[in-house]
Amino acid sequence: MAKAVPTPLSVAVIGAGWAGCAAAMELARAGHAVTVYEAARTVGGRARKVERDGTVLDNGQHILLGAYTETLRLLKLAGQDPQALILDLPLQMRYPMGSGGMDFVAPRWPAPLHLAWALLRAKGLARADKLSLLRFSSAMRWMGWQLYNDCTVAELLERFDQTERLVQLMWRPLCLAALNTPPERASAKVFVNVLRDSLGARRRRASDMLIPKTNLSALFPEAAVSYVESHGGQVNLGAKVVALQALPDGRWQLNSADTHDRVVLATSGTQAASLLASVGHAAVDGVLAQLQAFTHEAISTCYLQYDTAVRLDLPFYALVDAPEQAHWGQFVFDRGHLDGQQAGLLAVVISASGEAAAQGHEALAQAVAAQLAQVLRMPQLAQPAWTQVITEKRATYACTPDLARPPNASGLPGLVLAGDYTAGDYPATIEAAVRSGVQAAALVCQINTFAAKA
Ligand SMILES: Cc1cc2nc3c(=O)[nH]c(=O)nc-3n(C[C@H](O)[C@H](O)[C@H](O)COP(=O)(O)OP(=O)(O)OC[C@H]3O[C@@H](n4cnc5c(N)ncnc54)[C@H](O)[C@@H]3O)c2cc1C
Repeated sequence: MAKAVPTPLSVAVIGAGWAGCAAAMELARAGHAVTVYEAARTVGGRARKVERDGTVLDNGQHILLGAYTETLRLLKLAGQDPQALILDLPLQMRYPMGSGGMDFVAPRWPAPLHLAWALLRAKGLARADKLSLLRFSSAMRWMGWQLYNDCTVAELLERFDQTERLVQLMWRPLCLAALNTPPERASAKVFVNVLRDSLGARRRRASDMLIPKTNLSALFPEAAVSYVESHGGQVNLGAKVVALQALPDGRWQLNSADTHDRVVLATSGTQAASLLASVGHAAVDGVLAQLQAFTHEAISTCYLQYDTAVRLDLPFYALVDAPEQAHWGQFVFDRGHLDGQQAGLLAVVISASGEAAAQGHEALAQAVAAQLAQVLRMPQLAQPAWTQVITEKRATYACTPDLARPPNASGLPGLVLAGDYTAGDYPATIEAAVRSGVQAAALVCQINTFAAKA
């Protein structure tokens, strides 16, 4: 018989990324005594602010979707106003004019009319490309946006006869942006899940593209910390947990010091694996084996500062990436559209950036500046005042077909996992992290109810 435990529980949350912040908020809301341990001095994990000579950047330019329902719910719960903090754009894939791309932008009409109109009006696509897109989305709709057998995104697109141009201008950039894995290696099932909740959603707003106007730490994690503290919780920064130990009375000890009734392990998969190994219990061997099988993909963001008068016509453009021409950039964001203080600052994103990052940061920044000058037809962009490339080598796990992702339950009582890598519909994204954190908190509360009843 499980031992009855008092409520509120003392719960340790290890990691203050978006998953840990979500878990900590939900636990604090449920009345538990939460202590957050974050190794870094800044909250937000892989979606956080980075300071450079007085300028606040992010570790990587992020884009959210209207379909990120849990993220938006928790933002509001933390007292944030999404309308004020996020630029909400309709679904679009717009390349600079004359750069060999296309112009696809959905009007703010009810779904799926908005897509039909966008497709009809799209420039830069031939009739065959439009028909192939129509065929693909009709087939997916008919199949309920579900695949019973997984394969690569490239195989899926081939099966549905997608034209080369549509693959290059639409599917490949979408796949890279959503899964950070090239179509040749990416899971079709997970890709279709993302399409289901965006392109295929009944609510048009789900397909909106949301770009944070503020830095990523300020957008949610810092507000989540305030929420947790105002609910009696404690948040320790610069507090790395190096060892976890299960005590005979069912409690958990961290770093041979603090003890808690429950632990939510909300680090990345790699860091979770090393902490799980420190537990030294066969019950976590299955999860450990799954985590050790993960491979990772990098993301590079190249920031380029120009004169404050430099401004693009749109907040962001897709770019045709052509590594053979040293055109590495896949998307360019004009930060000046988001925050007046950042006028003249452009952020260029390169997903699955292993090859690009191998060029060296200086050479990469120069190549990106030359690419921007050429494709945007703005020669002055070749000469930025300064550049900063941030490469996150383990930005996300490679989201490959049939990848086995562990559940929130670790296999040991009282130890719950949270993070973008746990089992779920979404690839490694902010929404996957937040949903996982919410589920982890629910599991802690469930275990508590169960134990108290027993
Ligand atoms: C460059 C880049 C661009 C991205 N772009 C997008 C995008 O456009 N849209 C999108 O939705 N997603 C994007 N992602 C993915 C998204 O950022 C991640 O999926 C999400 O932030 C993961 O959150 P998490 O809480 O699961 O893990 P993490 O963010 O890794 O959080 C784990 C936290 O645990 C802490 N920690 C680790 N070990 C310990 C320890 N031993 N003790 C205490 N603390 C510890 C870490 O410091 C960290 O703060 C991007 C990621 C990167 C890197």
